[in-house]
Order: sequence, then structure tokens, then C-alpha cells
Amino acid sequence: MTAAVLYGKEDLKIERVPIPRVEKGEVLVKVQVALTCGTDLKVYQRGYHARMIVPPALFGHELAGVVEEVGEGVLSFKKGMKVVALNSAPCQMCFYCSKHQENLCEDLLFNNGAYAEYIRVPRRIVEANMLIIPPNVSFEDAAMTEPLACVLRGLHETGVESATPSPSSAAVPSDLCSSR
Ligand SMILES: [Zn+2]
Ligand SMILES: [Zn+2]
Repeated sequence: MTAAVLYGKEDLKIERVPIPRVEKGEVLVKVQVALTCGTDLKVYQRGYHARMIVPPALFGHELAGVVEEVGEGVLSFKKGMKVVALNSAPCQMCFYCSKHQENLCEDLLFNNGAYAEYIRVPRRIVEANMLIIPPNVSFEDAAMTEPLACVLRGLHETGVESATPSPSSAAVPSDLCSSR
């Protein structure tokens, strides 16, 4: 298959590489859409990311596609399903995971390789963070799931609420203050 391989600082090559083989619990996805986020740009400029990617490595991590093949034991997904596979999954065992702060997980598993014809999705992500795309959602929109989830989680954590022009909205700011 054709894939983008990151070798280091601003060193990205389009190459022919073997299609990944799926093992037990894993899924092979045929990529339909791959996005580029700020982290991809940062990693490209720096040539590495301490926790997320160690070059040389397949690059890109936000994608949506179609299930091409499922590994042994995968029951929730079948060939032909439209899916979005997120770029990471928490361990569910460390201190932070046990406190439901999975975003701080000490052993977050990352997956890269979205800039390619196919991507292998590791078992932990298949089980925790791979979703079936509803018929009314495009691949483009579905690929935004993880970045959008980060925004929504951030908004939720701040406790901010939308302001509406109705008279009842006057109570919103004081409610917010009193809850702190
Ligand atoms: Zn990203
Ligand atoms: Zn954890």
C-alpha cells in the first residue's frame, strides 16, 4: 500500500509499505478520510513526540474508513462497516483511569498510520474507542470525532453554559458563580 512515513524533523516520505496484518482482537480499516491536526504539524516540525510517535513510523492519527478485515475474536465489527477509530485508548488500570480521568492515563496507547491506504487498529482501541458511523454522518465529519470530543470535554469541565436572549438567561451567570 502507499503510506506516509515520518523519518524525523520535516522528513516525511510517501512510500510503498506492506499492508498491516491484523492479529487477535485487531481490525484493519481501509482509510477513506484522514485529517491533519495541530499535533501532526507539531510532530512534523519537531520530528518526534515523546509519547505518541517514535520515527521512523507511519504517520497521521485522525481517520474514518471501512472495515476491511477483522482479527480473531472481534465480534462487534464486520467487513464493510463504516467506522471511526480514535487515536488512543486508556489502560483502565492506572491511578487516573480508576478515578475516571482517562485523559491523564499513565499508559495511554496511541495509534498512528492514518496517512495510508489501510491502518491497523490495535485491540485496546477496537474495544474502547472505535465507533460505527451512523448512515447520516459523512466520513469527513466522523473523522473529527476525537478532536471534537476533546473540545466538548473541555467545555464540560469548565461548567460554561450557552447564553440565550430569553429573560431566564439572566440567572445563568449567578448560578455559575454560586456553584464554584
Ligand atoms: Zn489529533
Ligand atoms: Zn490508565
